[in-house]
Amino acid sequence: MSEEKSLNFIEEIVEADLNAGKYQSILTRFPPEPNGYLHIGHAKSICLNFGLAIKYGGKTNLRFDDTNPSTEETEYVESIKEDVRWLGFEWANELYASNYFEQLYQFATQLIEKGLAYVDDSSSEEIATQKGTPTQAGIENQFRQRTVQENIELFSDMRAGKYKDGEKVLRAKIDMASSNMHMRDPIIYRIKHAHHHRTGDAWCIYPMYDFAHGQSDSIENITHSICTLEFIPHRPLYDWCIENLSIFPSKQYEFARLNITYTIMSKRKLLQLVNEKHVFGWDDPRMSTISGMRRRGYPAESIRDFCEKIGVAKRENLIDFSLLEFCVREKLNKSALRRMVVFDPLKIVITNYPDTVEFLESENNPEDPNSGTRTVPFSKELFIEKDDFMELAPKKYFRLSPGQMVRLKSAYIIKCESVIKDAEGNITELHCTYIPESKSGSDTSGINVKGTLHWVSIAHAINAEIRMYDRLFQVEDVANAEGDFKDHINPNSLQVLANAYAEPALQSDPPTDACQFIRKGYFILDKDSTSTQLVFNRTVTLKDAWAKEVKKA
Ligand code: ATP
Ligand code: MG
Repeated sequence: MSEEKSLNFIEEIVEADLNAGKYQSILTRFPPEPNGYLHIGHAKSICLNFGLAIKYGGKTNLRFDDTNPSTEETEYVESIKEDVRWLGFEWANELYASNYFEQLYQFATQLIEKGLAYVDDSSSEEIATQKGTPTQAGIENQFRQRTVQENIELFSDMRAGKYKDGEKVLRAKIDMASSNMHMRDPIIYRIKHAHHHRTGDAWCIYPMYDFAHGQSDSIENITHSICTLEFIPHRPLYDWCIENLSIFPSKQYEFARLNITYTIMSKRKLLQLVNEKHVFGWDDPRMSTISGMRRRGYPAESIRDFCEKIGVAKRENLIDFSLLEFCVREKLNKSALRRMVVFDPLKIVITNYPDTVEFLESENNPEDPNSGTRTVPFSKELFIEKDDFMELAPKKYFRLSPGQMVRLKSAYIIKCESVIKDAEGNITELHCTYIPESKSGSDTSGINVKGTLHWVSIAHAINAEIRMYDRLFQVEDVANAEGDFKDHINPNSLQVLANAYAEPALQSDPPTDACQFIRKGYFILDKDSTSTQLVFNRTVTLKDAWAKEVKKA
């Protein structure tokens, strides 16, 4: 049995509701606006909403909150569905707030009939000034006194397209002196002559978030409508609409949004990075989007694990990016295939090795006995890493240097016999000898060496480009940093190594998940790969490089 984890505050509410018999089963929803790609903050909301339903035997709807036609697109709808599925969740129903436009119109009409909504001709500036301030009550204007009949007609004319954008709005008639600004006759419908990605030109009036969201929850019989803290002041309006329409009493609960160091979490800002070409697209591996993280090689399991680890908070905080990387490493160490890639090559010639090729067995993952082995071609001419050789080595140097021995991973022990240089004195290759009895797995040489190096056979190596990523921003708290968020972009967030050499299994048997390049880190094959050149994204380093830098500083 795994250790019992204490309940988070939303689970406590759900359990209490179920125990009290308030609901037979729960129904949650994940309600993205399709105006961009999902980011890791949305992953938190997805894990929470779907996680609750899974834990308590309920269901979750995927509802697109598509009430703002000018920013929404079908491309975003498709990407959102792909991301939710990739994270490992399946929705009970795929729904759209736009499915309810007719119903929402009827709800608004009902409010008018009850004397609880009116058409206002004021400009948005006038409405803003009349609203007053948090310390000063607002003003009731003359439109508030319109008759029910007049309001019905005007609202119907708004729908029929008689007015231009901004000429009129429909407002709920609540309380212009309320201490909650959201209750001072909030706008519930506006005119917008815009093409909608689903309803086309059928509508030229659109419900505001506050009017669409709670009513959509209610139409679907959502039991627990979970959103982020900034919606706390909207809750009285959420309840007011439901109460005055006498519809299913969905309830809103708020938790703290996820913020991560060195990262931004806003579709609007992420869109700017894409449009202004600071990144290569929504799925650029440096982006905090789910698609970017997927392309970077973060396993879905690591993202779920991360969301679980950070818990559900009632107060905003900033989570360390390293925790996410920790979750990625932890999973990949267990599951990633091991492969050999030389980033910066130095040629070695094994002078006593025959002119033949030997196919050596190498384990795919020492952490996973079921992962099996692969064969790696070994021959007389190999590449090792340039920085695995030192001509004048200090005492405790266990890599290669003249006269010294090292093991080549899954192969033989070799000894560096001589260093070959060109006319300018640059090292061009090393001449080495190997010990035939030292073959990995059947080593009878009796020789112990401290260093093991990765390598590739030159004749068999596949050309590879390696894209190494670092934090996209240089400041911890990007959202609250001074100036424009783009001023804080890390100019070195991408470094490309164009001439790396990969073992052939990476081409003949291309891995779909991130691999561990031995001694180098975790890497995943990118979609930019071609038949002549593999492209890899660095998922994460083997160790936390930033933690070290902090200590050094
Ligand atoms: P953005 O500003 O990035 O567009 P949003 O809240 O406007 O964020 P929506 O598409 O409206 O994005 O959000 C869908 C759901 O995801 C909402 O319930 C929202 O509260 C939740 N969500 C969005 N960002 C975060 C975050 N950083 N942490 C937790 N939940 C979030
Ligand atoms: Mg939004």
